[in-house]
Amino acid sequence: MKIGCTCGAVIIDQTDYLAYKGHLVADEDWEDFAESSRSLGEIDQSFVRHCYQCTSCGRLYVDDHDRRLLAFVPETTVPQSALKSIKGTLWKAPLIGRWTSAPLAGESKGNLYCNGGDGVVEQYDTWEALEQAYFALFFRLKGLGLLRSALLHNGSKQVHAWADTDH
Ligand SMILES: [Zn+2]
Repeated sequence: MKIGCTCGAVIIDQTDYLAYKGHLVADEDWEDFAESSRSLGEIDQSFVRHCYQCTSCGRLYVDDHDRRLLAFVPETTVPQSALKSIKGTLWKAPLIGRWTSAPLAGESKGNLYCNGGDGVVEQYDTWEALEQAYFALFFRLKGLGLLRSALLHNGSKQVHAWADTDH
């Protein structure tokens, strides 16, 4: 899903763990939501609405009860993150390395992606360079306790996979 912000930026919702997206439950629904989720054994998504913040201008977009997006303009001119993790800089991020022999136009064959810490989006032209960068980042972030999962793919082959067991 994509939202065209009034400022011209585009808010993209196509992956998990977005630093500018939140899940909202109304206080009027809170007890029903908790009870329903408990009896279902999982989050009852029918009570959950979404909110997004434009990372360019800071506008906040909130789904109303009819799931129509309402926009709110911030009072500050410098965007302040409203929807980041409550864990702040200690949030554990997923790390993804992907090698493809048929990249999209304008993209490299090797991609390394991690949105924790300072954030990493890097491209590599050889498998060896991607693999080396992936493991260097993997051991660094794992050592710092900042990883939730890691996945390295070469085409359809899974080369490496790791998941944190205590989050
Ligand atoms: Zn905007």
